[in-house]
Amino acid sequence: MKLDADVIIVGAGITGTACACLLAKQGLEVILLEAAARELDDLKPCDPRIFAISPASKTLLELTGAWRRLAEEDIGHYQTMHVWDENGLGEIHFDSAEICQPTMGYIIPYMAIADALQDRMLDMESIRCSWSAKPVAIEDEGESIKVSTEANLDYRAKLIIAADGSHSIIRQLAGIKFNKHDYQQAALACTAITERSHEQVARQRFLTNGPLAFLPMVNPHQSAIVWSEKPEKINELLSLDETQFNQTLADAFANELSSVTSSTKRFSFPLYRAEAEHYVKSRIALVGDSAHVIHPLAGLGANLGLVDVAALCEIIQSYHVRKRDFGKQQVLRRYERWRKGENKNMLYLMDGFKYLFEKQTMFMPWIRNIGLDTIDAMPLFKNIIMKRAMGLEGNLPKYLKININ
Ligand SMILES: Cc1cc2nc3c(=O)[nH]c(=O)nc-3n(C[C@H](O)[C@H](O)[C@H](O)COP(=O)(O)OP(=O)(O)OC[C@H]3O[C@@H](n4cnc5c(N)ncnc54)[C@H](O)[C@@H]3O)c2cc1C
Repeated sequence: MKLDADVIIVGAGITGTACACLLAKQGLEVILLEAAARELDDLKPCDPRIFAISPASKTLLELTGAWRRLAEEDIGHYQTMHVWDENGLGEIHFDSAEICQPTMGYIIPYMAIADALQDRMLDMESIRCSWSAKPVAIEDEGESIKVSTEANLDYRAKLIIAADGSHSIIRQLAGIKFNKHDYQQAALACTAITERSHEQVARQRFLTNGPLAFLPMVNPHQSAIVWSEKPEKINELLSLDETQFNQTLADAFANELSSVTSSTKRFSFPLYRAEAEHYVKSRIALVGDSAHVIHPLAGLGANLGLVDVAALCEIIQSYHVRKRDFGKQQVLRRYERWRKGENKNMLYLMDGFKYLFEKQTMFMPWIRNIGLDTIDAMPLFKNIIMKRAMGLEGNLPKYLKININ
């Protein structure tokens, strides 16, 4: 039977579009189905988040051809990170110079990355995009898989890649369980101008109910704010007028960057950890948030999704060049074995940090502060943590190690 494409990707977020670009570069025919309508620029829904992007993700974005479409004024970066606890004097400093790297990572608006990837994707002839396309059924036909959409259209390919986010319809249609743990927290996101310059330092202060991060943007006085707190407190912060909020924000940050002189519109996001019971089934693979959702305290969610993409594309390519069927479950299981354990480790490491910093029993702040200072005095251990978070170490796909663009 003639197939419509080699691969159908569902979801045009960061992971879906990066995956489409990479597969097209490998010579595969791709159909991308996205539920949202393709809006004209001024009608586009705005996602206000500013993302921390690892050097490994930068390598992948370069490989797709999207990185060079980012405007210079959108790419902030940081060389050092300072983490400390509200209750005590313990602190940790990370510095990329200690591992001979020019930067620890980049701070870029989500919309800039999404637009650069979408523009790049629309230039590639072997990718066909269908907007306002919502899958309603899938059927494994043995040698291929069929997706039917709400508009009564059918598409066939060797593999469906679900990049349709945490509420993934493909995961649901495939009957894959999603184990979710609600943190009973929400995150407030906005940007703020501070009196003192951030000096390219990413800062995170652990407050009693969650971390407050100031991430350095291109403007030396502008930071992206991610404040995790109990939902009631977030609602209270959302209801303040700008002057009250700026004062509350500066106080919560112990005036580390002096006063907050202005801030942008605030948005909130519910926080939870979630994990798909399986990443693959015959002719189906999950990537990004459809497979796992992580607390944003280390800014890792999209970065982990891009590692999934690089790993899956590497496996697909190794079968495609030998003209072998990459949609078979035993092939896809290689991807699951590669990524599921690594993602799980990261998910639970973030949980560990979260609970360690939030525990307020009698000796906990004291133990925590000693712990922070001890780690700070262990450069080798710190360097391992840093390299892991930057995607420089671990079982990395080849697309994240070298630039073959
Ligand atoms: C406050 C906050 C801050 C964060 N900061 C960072 C950070 O600094 N760094 C970082 O790496 N990560 C960060 N993250 C995590 C990051 O947002 C996610 O991990 C990432 O956006 C997931 O990308 P995705 O492409 O897998 O899914 P999504 O971004 O959810 O994209 C899914 C796509 O699928 C489409 N879709 C959905 N349903 C359907 C359907 N039925 N049919 C067709 N299409 C569909 C959607 O319209 C969308 O386009 C943060 C998260 C939060 C909440």
